Amino acid sequence: MKPVAFELCISADIASAAGILSQNDGDTKIIAGGQSLGPMLNLRLARPDRLVDVAQTPALRKITQTQAFVAFGAATRHAEIEDGKTPDPSCGMMPYVASGIAYRAIRNKGTLGGSLCHADPAADWVTAMTALNATLIITSVGKDTRKTPMVEFMQGAYRTTLEPGEILTSVLVPKYSDKTVWGYYKICRKVGEFADAIVAWVADPTKQYSRIVLGAGSGAPLVLNHLAKELAQTGNIPTLDIIKAELKLHSPDLDQVKNHLFAIALQRCVKGALANE
Ligand SMILES: Cc1cc2nc3c(=O)[nH]c(=O)nc-3n(C[C@H](O)[C@H](O)[C@H](O)COP(=O)(O)OP(=O)(O)OC[C@H]3O[C@@H](n4cnc5c(N)ncnc54)[C@H](O)[C@@H]3O)c2cc1C
Repeated sequence: MKPVAFELCISADIASAAGILSQNDGDTKIIAGGQSLGPMLNLRLARPDRLVDVAQTPALRKITQTQAFVAFGAATRHAEIEDGKTPDPSCGMMPYVASGIAYRAIRNKGTLGGSLCHADPAADWVTAMTALNATLIITSVGKDTRKTPMVEFMQGAYRTTLEPGEILTSVLVPKYSDKTVWGYYKICRKVGEFADAIVAWVADPTKQYSRIVLGAGSGAPLVLNHLAKELAQTGNIPTLDIIKAELKLHSPDLDQVKNHLFAIALQRCVKGALANE
C-alpha cells in the first residue's frame, strides 16, 4: 500500500518546525528517521495531512556536553552512536545498545528521539535511557521549554507526555564514572527482531546510583529499585525465585512465561555485568 497524500515540510530550525506543528489546520506529524512512522504511513495507520521532516535540522543533530552530561540532539542516529561518532557518557553501554537495534539499514536512519517519542515498549532506547536516568528537553510554540525525566516520559505502550505541538529537541544523559558497572541483556527470537524481554542494569558507586530496568513488557519500562539497591550493596546475583517474587510484587498481572523470561534475562544481565567488571 502507499501512504495517503501529504505535504512535506523540511524544517531548517526548531522554531519553524514548532511553528508548522502549532498551525491548527489538519493533522501534522514530525518525521525523523521514518523507520517507525514510514511503515505506519504505508499501512495507512497514520494519515497526516502534513509531515515536518527534522532528520537534518541542525539543532536536532547537535551534540553538546558539560561536565555533568552529554546532550544528544533528538535526531542523532542509532548508527552514529554505534560507530562512536558521538561522545559516550555511558562507559560503553550506549554504543552496545545501538549496535543491537534491528539491522544496519534501520540504524542508519532511525533516531534516538524518534525511538523515545514512538514509545514502543520493546524499543531499546526506552529501556536504556530509563536505566541511564536521561532527561528529555521538549519545546513548543508559546510555552516554556520543559524538562522531563525519561522515567516519567513514557506513560504506556505508544503513549508519552508529549502534547500536540511539542517537539523533543534533545536527550541529556548523565556522565557515568569509570567505576560504573552496566549490563544489558535482550531475549529475541531472531537477531534484529524486537525483543521479548530486555533488562538493563546501571550502577555507579561514585553517584550511589543503581537502577535495574525491564523493557518489552506491556507498557512503560518497569524500574526495580529495591533489587538494584541490594545488588549494588552485596554484589550477589539474585536467585530466580527472588527475582520472580520481586516481579510479582511490582507487576502482579505479568503472566508466568513473561515472568520467567524477565527473571532469566535479569540474571544473565547481572552475570554479564559482573563478569565484565
Ligand atoms: C524492521 C524494524 C525492526 C526494528 N527493530 C528495532 C529494535 O530491535 N529495537 C528498537 O529499539 N527499535 C527497532 N525498530 C525501530 C527503529 O529503531 C526506529 O528507528 C525508531 O523506533 C523510530 O525512530 P525514527 O527516527 O525512525 O522515528 P520516526 O519513525 O520518524 O518517528 C516515530 C514517531 O516519533 C515522532 N517523532 C520523531 N521524532 C520526534 C521528535 N524529535 N519530537 C517529537 N516527536 C518525534 C514521530 O512523529 C512518530 O510519531 C525497528 C524498526 C523496524 C522497521
